[in-house]
Amino acid sequence: MSSPNSAYVARDLAHVWHPCTQMKDHERLPPIPIRCGQGAWLEDYSGQRYLDAISSWWVNLFGHANARINAAVRAQLEQLEQVILAGFTHEPVIALSEALSAIAPAGLTRCFYADNGSSAVEVAVKMSFHYWRNVGRTAKRRFLTLSNSYHGETLGALAVGDVDLYKEIYRPLLMDVITVPSPDCYAREPGESWAQHSRRRFAHMEAALAGHAHEACAVIVEPLVQAAGGMRMYDPVYLTLLREACDRHQVHLIADEIAVGFGRTGTMFACEQAGIRPDFMCLSKGLTGGYLPLSTVMTTEAVYEAFYDEYLKLKAFLHSHSFTGNPLACAAACASLAIFRDDHVLEGNRALAARLGERARALEDHPHVAEVRQRGMIVAIELAADKMSREPYPWQERRGLRIYRHALTRGVLLRPIDNVVYFMPPYVITPAEIDLMVEVAREGIERATCE
Ligand SMILES: *Cc1c(COP(=O)(O)O)cnc(C)c1O
Repeated sequence: MSSPNSAYVARDLAHVWHPCTQMKDHERLPPIPIRCGQGAWLEDYSGQRYLDAISSWWVNLFGHANARINAAVRAQLEQLEQVILAGFTHEPVIALSEALSAIAPAGLTRCFYADNGSSAVEVAVKMSFHYWRNVGRTAKRRFLTLSNSYHGETLGALAVGDVDLYKEIYRPLLMDVITVPSPDCYAREPGESWAQHSRRRFAHMEAALAGHAHEACAVIVEPLVQAAGGMRMYDPVYLTLLREACDRHQVHLIADEIAVGFGRTGTMFACEQAGIRPDFMCLSKGLTGGYLPLSTVMTTEAVYEAFYDEYLKLKAFLHSHSFTGNPLACAAACASLAIFRDDHVLEGNRALAARLGERARALEDHPHVAEVRQRGMIVAIELAADKMSREPYPWQERRGLRIYRHALTRGVLLRPIDNVVYFMPPYVITPAEIDLMVEVAREGIERATCE
């Protein structure tokens, strides 16, 4: 094996420790060194191309090497690459904050920056806790979360999430949270609609809020799609009910839109589909069009005001990261938002989503496909050992990995989560590329389920 890739692989394996990876797996399947990207495609050093069906871990919106975002980052690079955001400011962060405030659910007018999704979750958690302290409600120090939710990997974010694969080992290090059964509609009864199921499941949340409101700072949710939890989906009515109940019980609502924000679910933000405004909205991933690390927590004037006082009162939010609000990242984000405006992206995505859903639903008849579900530009195919009972394949069989390997040989980057094959492509994907992506997934599913 001496493809032009192999020299990079050898150097990589000598020093790089890859994220979310059992490094021993690379004995059989080496990492793929990517030389360049263009649109929805990645290309390695041997010239093999891969259709990026997962938007490079859900971040890319408008393709790799996008001309407009490139130009914006390049122009910013000639001006200012980085400056401290405490005591100083710069045009890209001002413009981005204005643009975000204009498109976010009405009332979210304050932007606090960090540089990755997990850090944004940490910010929201700390800010909510600190808010209640500042207004004298010192008993409030706990958080409510949904089963199977994911909010990141740093200790606070891991604590408010519920994916055992990532969380279990670290449990002794984590704060104690109140975990409420999820409204995930994969679990709905035969004949039950998504809305009926999500509404019924809300009873658990209502009970938890009634029991814990006195000690609860906030409920944190991934609106509409529990992404890392296997692209499990639920009905917007749950969020509508949750908003009302949080208000009634005086508990904050944190919407983690890190995966679902920026058009993924069909609307700019998933919360819009429920007509709600959270108290905190966490954004990252698609924020910069997938170019550079950046995140923000958007909140209300009411929250902001609770921190606004004389310095000596010690009410200020004294949280920071070195690269908070980096100018290059903010310039990329502004360019990405301009593309949304100028190219009517959400309208264009409707046709792409319809095509994607239609092609994927053709797999519903497969004997090991238990469900094909969709919310906008996210489509998931859930495999099961037994289609009727929905008995999953044991995770030890790693069926998804077989699909991943097959897809790579066919020039498509799929990355199933356990038994769930999903598509979350960049918005520049073409109908023909959608067809290819789904066809390769079909082949992979055939091969992974044949024995
Ligand atoms: C990816 C993700 C995070 C964590 O973001 P990182 O940038 O990977 O730290 C948090 N919440 C959700 C919903 C995510 O999908």
